Amino acid sequence: MSQVGPVLVETLLKTLGNAYAPYSHHPVASVMETPDGQQFAGANVEVAHYKGVCAEASAISAMATAGQRELAKVYVMGPGEHLCTPCGDCRQRIREFATPDTQILVLSREGEVLKTYTMETLLPDAFGPEQLPPR
Ligand SMILES: [Zn+2]
Repeated sequence: MSQVGPVLVETLLKTLGNAYAPYSHHPVASVMETPDGQQFAGANVEVAHYKGVCAEASAISAMATAGQRELAKVYVMGPGEHLCTPCGDCRQRIREFATPDTQILVLSREGEVLKTYTMETLLPDAFGPEQLPPR
């Protein structure tokens, strides 16, 4: 099983610690990496009416806010008791900025790569910008 670098693990653990998950008690951290190596972290942020934001959505928002529009790698780290894959909504959000080469890596708390997906394996035959008429 492969392992990601210690700096990335540190970033993910720190982000996981900043997750605001008082209702689910299921903290998640994610890092979006662009082709030029920039990384944008995000944690899940819940609210009392249960319409919180996932870690992946937080990280994608940070990336897009910084003006970045392409994902090279997506890292997801959950609380550790199971394979913490992106939810359906986040799969579609990742799809928005993914290429056929984008890798989605789901990690353990120790930074071990538990499973790696491509966009096609994570969300087969996904709806995307190409299905919309040109503007
Ligand atoms: Zn999600």
